[in-house]
Amino acid sequence: MVNQDPTNPSHALFDQFVQSQTCKEVQRTFSELCHHLQLDPRDYQSFYTKLKERLNYWKAKALWIKLDKRAQHQDYQQGKVCAKTKCLVLGAGPCGLRTAIELALLGAQVVVLEKRDSFSRNNVLHLWPYTIYDLRGLAAKKFYGKFCTGALDHISIRQLQLILLKVSLLLGVEVHTGVEFKGWMAELFPDDHPAGKFQFDVFISAGGGRFVPDGFRWKELRGKLAIGITCNFINHHSAAEAQVAEISGVARIYNQKFFQDLLTEKGIDLENIVYYKDATHYFVMTAKKKSLLKMGVIKQDFSDANQLLGQANVDQDALLRYAHGAAHFSTGHRLPNMQFALNHAGQPDVAMFDFTCMHRAENASLVRERKGKKLLMGLVGDCLVEPFWPLGTGIARGFLAAFDTAWMVRSWGKGKPHLEVVAERESIYQLLSQTTPENINKNYSAFSIDPATRYQHVNLNSIKANQLQHLVPMCVHG
Ligand code: FAD
Repeated sequence: MVNQDPTNPSHALFDQFVQSQTCKEVQRTFSELCHHLQLDPRDYQSFYTKLKERLNYWKAKALWIKLDKRAQHQDYQQGKVCAKTKCLVLGAGPCGLRTAIELALLGAQVVVLEKRDSFSRNNVLHLWPYTIYDLRGLAAKKFYGKFCTGALDHISIRQLQLILLKVSLLLGVEVHTGVEFKGWMAELFPDDHPAGKFQFDVFISAGGGRFVPDGFRWKELRGKLAIGITCNFINHHSAAEAQVAEISGVARIYNQKFFQDLLTEKGIDLENIVYYKDATHYFVMTAKKKSLLKMGVIKQDFSDANQLLGQANVDQDALLRYAHGAAHFSTGHRLPNMQFALNHAGQPDVAMFDFTCMHRAENASLVRERKGKKLLMGLVGDCLVEPFWPLGTGIARGFLAAFDTAWMVRSWGKGKPHLEVVAERESIYQLLSQTTPENINKNYSAFSIDPATRYQHVNLNSIKANQLQHLVPMCVHG
């Protein structure tokens, strides 16, 4: 056991790990901590227990209390229920990592593959109250002291990923970055990556918007043309910036005068705008096509949205002026020194995107045969249901799906017949798109991977196994 000494290198390494602010730094400090404590992070079944034994440090203990509380939930059956299950999770976005944590708590061996090697998304996510509660339960505040202080209900994507990555690693999840998954037969790039040898019986795709692996079909829900613009400005954390009020959402129908004044003063015509103060000053808005054409942001009108918003048809400088103008006006011209933050490519962090069509996978699960073995496949996050950003549904429904997926893997680990596993998952999936902060259960402290704790009216048998034989081929019926 390591002594409780302030100069103890393992304590210093633990502090560095907890405070790490980049994906690479988290991975480096974690590996140094493991090395120092002579722990093998691939020893997933006993990693967390051994880490607790070897790191006798009060700051770490405060973290273990939180994580132990979660891990002791009866649903996980002390990590034995999926002890023989091996899961591959594609994508270390918030939903992939949140799923990986639950699978690790069930006792599964979990490997996460992420094609990027950094977390660089400044954009800020709105969180429903239950997700704030959930993240507090995973000790989010220990990793990020500012997490949802006071009335704050948002967090940047990268900060959320950092918190979830740290929790995942502590619970024995193996996370590989800079590795691209090329197909469900698990071809990777680079093709000689050691993770390519991993034999798994559960594959979860959390690859983000429209990354739906082979075998899954999706539906397109088409609305009227909707053009979103996001932009981030550097937060200098000055007293003047602190004074400027956030806009948690102002829509045209509720404040006609605001939008009319914006149009008159700047020529900018919006449907809505949100402003969050986080590591950056983050704005997201829906702009009208006519004003984008008039202000020279879009060069030529096309009926096809891809052509309309294609790189060749967008004047980037005009887009920067448009976004800057909207941000400046909506904060009452009170944000001083507005400089664009830079994105992963070193460019001003401004993006324009079309959200006219929303994608939704037809089903959330299926069973395939792979290398002579049964493989359970599932989707979570944006690749299951593309979120509608003005409602902040991305993380809220993404985490609900992560829990539902863990519940499915639990049934799989318990040896439930495959058709029944899939039928239960699809029955629960029916509820996801209707969930709102109002109609989910309010007793957040009772939330677990069991769907009955979260959804108000859940019928686990609303879809019958015989309706889903196309998802579980005859040769692999359990
Ligand atoms: P992602 O965060 O997209 O993560 C997917 C990961 O998979 C990525 O890291 C990607 O690199 C990786 N990946 C993809 N393909 C591969 C591959 N082949 N191999 C390996 N790795 C791969 N949500 C909210 O809740 N509130 C909001 O206010 C909100 N605002 C938004 C505003 C905008 C403009 C946008 C675009 C989205 C917004 N969202 C919001 C949605 C939110 O960003 C997503 O819901 C959230 O990030 C989804 O998490 P995810 O894990 O499903 O996918």
